[in-house]
Amino acid sequence: MTRYISEEEIEEVALDLRKKLKILDVFAPDLIELLEFKLKYILPKFRLIIVPDHALRNAEAEADCSENTIKVRQSVYEDASRMGARARTTLAHEIGHLVLKHEGIRPRSVTAAVTAEEVQARYFAASFLMPLYLAKKFRSAAKIEGAFQVSKETAERRLREIAKHNRLAQKKQREWIEKAIERQSPFADTALSLLDRAIRAPGFERSPSRSVSRHWIARSRRSNERSTPIRPLN
Ligand SMILES: [Zn+2]
Repeated sequence: MTRYISEEEIEEVALDLRKKLKILDVFAPDLIELLEFKLKYILPKFRLIIVPDHALRNAEAEADCSENTIKVRQSVYEDASRMGARARTTLAHEIGHLVLKHEGIRPRSVTAAVTAEEVQARYFAASFLMPLYLAKKFRSAAKIEGAFQVSKETAERRLREIAKHNRLAQKKQREWIEKAIERQSPFADTALSLLDRAIRAPGFERSPSRSVSRHWIARSRRSNERSTPIRPLN
């Protein structure tokens, strides 16, 4: 059974893994180093198995979720050692299957069916390789590509994801402000009608008071001279 995992949860899992691997400040971590020396301390019994290309006929790599292993083609391993973009994404994707606790053997092939778990692993790879807190500083895919050593396509997709997250965050913030204004508006009506009355009172302009509020009222009156009476803000 496929478990639904939200993008937010996946971002958390990826961030947590970066924390545990002590690479929070690393833009482009060496995945081979992580897989060979570090991941075993986080994922019990983890092993990276390098096999000849022909032994993984239909996949560049595959994760075995019950054994906690990742099998990788020799050529992909070598490519990742040279920081090759595609190989890095492939390996991060397979790590995703393990840390998201998927089930079974997950081959990474071009023909793999687009299941929910594949989508989750793909999203994990993006979150792990280009974490939000670092990637959000970039405005162009080319810069993301260079900083995180990922492919152009992967960088462009991440940039779109970040833009989507930003839009949602802004919308949330706007909703919060709109609600606050709505809650506060009854008080504003009262305050503004008092202000309106004060301004209309005889002698207001010549008031000798030097209190800040009077000054402010007097000033706001002058700037609104041609638009009396003052109307409550909606
Ligand atoms: Zn996969």
